Amino acid sequence: MAADRALRIAAHDLAAIVAAARNALPRECCGLLLGREGEGGWYVTEIVDSPNVAPADRQDRFEIDPGVLIAVQKRLRREGGAMIGIYHSHPNGRPTPSQTDLAQAWQTGKIWLIAALSGEEEVASVGAFLRTEKGFSSISLIREEARP
Ligand SMILES: [Zn+2]
Repeated sequence: MAADRALRIAAHDLAAIVAAARNALPRECCGLLLGREGEGGWYVTEIVDSPNVAPADRQDRFEIDPGVLIAVQKRLRREGGAMIGIYHSHPNGRPTPSQTDLAQAWQTGKIWLIAALSGEEEVASVGAFLRTEKGFSSISLIREEARP
């Protein structure tokens, strides 16, 4: 755990990510987490869904659409705010970063939220991590009733 800093996200945003994970099956879903970093951790104020542009034969990976990324960066420059992290799903896995995730070239200091689906019921479990130079560090996830 990275001290006691947590990721705070509205329950409806979390539900939308889990729904995106189910809709994307058998592939992974992906998107951006916008918000701010404060004393208690990270606050998600918006999620931006992205098409997964990874090659179609690779169901074990995600690639955020560069067009979505550029559009969001432009908007944040104009309106303020920050991209604090990304999310994606593991269709048949655990809510922890995979070797593939470790190989991704995202900068350190970003939050990774991973929604895993398992079993026929597609029960979801969600994990949050901070990308560090050494890898990933697990952080707590706090569900808020409204956007924090
Ligand atoms: Zn992954």
